[in-house]
Amino acid sequence: MILLFSAGLFGIYFLNQSHSRQTTAPSDEKYYFADSKYSGIRSKFVTRDNKREKVSIEYPITENEKINRLISESIDKIDRDFQNTVLLATVFDKPMTETISYQVTHNTSEALSIVVNIKQDMNGAHPASMTQFWTFDKKSGEVVGLADFTEQSDEAAEAIISAAKNSVSQTIKQRQQPEIDLNEIINKEALSNFIITNNGNALAWPLGQASLLPSSYGELTITVPISSVSKYLQNPTARKLANIPKPAEKPKPTPATPTPIVANKTIALTFDDGPGPYTEKLLDILDKYDAKATFFLIGSKVSARANTLRRMQSRGHQLGNHSWSHPELNKVSAEQLASEIDQTNNAIKQAVGTKPNIIRPPYGAFNRAVLEQFRQRGMSAVVWSVDTRDWADRNSEIVCSRAVAGARNGAVILMHDIHPTSVNAVPCILNSLKQQGYSFVTVQNLIGDMTPGAVYP
Ligand SMILES: [Zn+2]
Repeated sequence: MILLFSAGLFGIYFLNQSHSRQTTAPSDEKYYFADSKYSGIRSKFVTRDNKREKVSIEYPITENEKINRLISESIDKIDRDFQNTVLLATVFDKPMTETISYQVTHNTSEALSIVVNIKQDMNGAHPASMTQFWTFDKKSGEVVGLADFTEQSDEAAEAIISAAKNSVSQTIKQRQQPEIDLNEIINKEALSNFIITNNGNALAWPLGQASLLPSSYGELTITVPISSVSKYLQNPTARKLANIPKPAEKPKPTPATPTPIVANKTIALTFDDGPGPYTEKLLDILDKYDAKATFFLIGSKVSARANTLRRMQSRGHQLGNHSWSHPELNKVSAEQLASEIDQTNNAIKQAVGTKPNIIRPPYGAFNRAVLEQFRQRGMSAVVWSVDTRDWADRNSEIVCSRAVAGARNGAVILMHDIHPTSVNAVPCILNSLKQQGYSFVTVQNLIGDMTPGAVYP
């Protein structure tokens, strides 16, 4: 997506060697601030790059100091352990790497859910992947635990725990992993920290490797659709923070819990804003790695590169709509909204013979009216779970490390094939993630059947 740069973004200011922290700051530490795509949140980037270590840390800076402090203390503790390992190491074939980044999964006036992804590679040892995640009450800055969210209702907590166990045992079955007694593992304490996802319609626990289940089970995200437990969540705190359907309402069809459909770890790479001059090169790369991807196309660019679209289709990639002229769809007239969708669907149909059934609204911006138009056309909205912010950092290494840091089973990774740096990052992403056992599938294969008008992942 082409984002509108605010002055802050390219006013990136480098402040070298003046960052204060308790431990002795290595002399090559740099930091700078940049806007994030999340409303009200900026990022502070800290980098260290020398013979011993290659570190990139992205801290969220929200409007609430208390939230910022909790997250940065938690990140700093992990980083200090990493620095100690680096200090103690004696052999340096190549630098040890650490990448820490974050994703916001829920951001309303009342609630904020954040996941921090940590990837560390200490030469030779397995890359360690960890997560930390919280839901905050945005006003007070307090962490909302499961007990707060359920207002101390044991019945509610039990319902959520039992839904979580079901989710895990299903995943284990699908992955053909050995059965395991979840009663010992999944309880109130283990689930205390949670995030809200899917536009306020689900609770989730994005667990890193070995954080609850034995290491051999890999990473796992537990998702509980709120509709399945909403009768237990009729309390003011839950209503304030998430979308709790009223008891009289029919529960909404439960969309958007992407359950992995194959035993392996799978990821959907998605490329927006094309087709463009680098798209053919990208197709060559994807062919070479036998990776499938999904392209969200700008309708007005399609007819000039219809051959490229035919090639995408013939190689098993998925084609999606990304509007005709890339406006914020929630801000245009009903007529323009319809024509942004239809003109693009028609252009794609003209090129490859079929209309797409998925659409990514530019900037991830939509509202009920927009989703209704999608629904009427049998289309589902597809956003993303990992943003490489490749439009902001035209640097293949940064783009690669963000994609790799955010990767987990079921992730939808956002990139833009209109930037040569992004296309050049793809071999690095495919290599790194293949080594970790991932395969690359289309959005359709990642998510399975999608409900028209619903939003994924
Ligand atoms: Zn776009």
